[in-house]
Amino acid sequence: MMDADRRVSFRTAVCMNITYICPACEQTVRTHFAASDEALTCGRCEVEMSIPPQAVESENVTRCLACPSTELFVRKDFPQRLGVTIIVAGFVGSTIAWYYYQLYLSLGILFSTALLDALLFLFVGNVLSCYRCHAEYRGLNLQERHKPFDLETHERFRQEAARLAEAGPPTGDQPAS
Ligand SMILES: [Zn+2]
Ligand SMILES: [Zn+2]
Repeated sequence: MMDADRRVSFRTAVCMNITYICPACEQTVRTHFAASDEALTCGRCEVEMSIPPQAVESENVTRCLACPSTELFVRKDFPQRLGVTIIVAGFVGSTIAWYYYQLYLSLGILFSTALLDALLFLFVGNVLSCYRCHAEYRGLNLQERHKPFDLETHERFRQEAARLAEAGPPTGDQPAS
């Protein structure tokens, strides 16, 4: 049973990739990784960041590779702005049609843009995201391991980040005085 599962997961394995902010050059980089990899290499400055042991299990991630956090959430890989743009375009289009007494056209535009939005939402994949460092993972096999976005957890990490920012830059970056 276990063996069969594993075989299936390897066959369907896709290219896992991570988008993260490189701690060395502070650029947003995107790189592929595999379960056997021991480090992530920044495509810009080529600095290697070691992957914690057992962080990658077959094609899933148990903890963030860019920071040691285990708090990750799943969201739709869908740019929210695009969804809003479609709805606004539909609204404007239907208002114009309404103005010219084109009732059916007006409703048609409204309906089809709403449908387009719903379809886009249905067909886009999921992305796994880290609350702490905002690294994003795509191409994973996201089963039930990861939970959806939780505002409370998000708030906890946001406050932690704010506290760190208040405390000043991390040691090493401090100007010599
Ligand atoms: Zn870098
Ligand atoms: Zn992280």
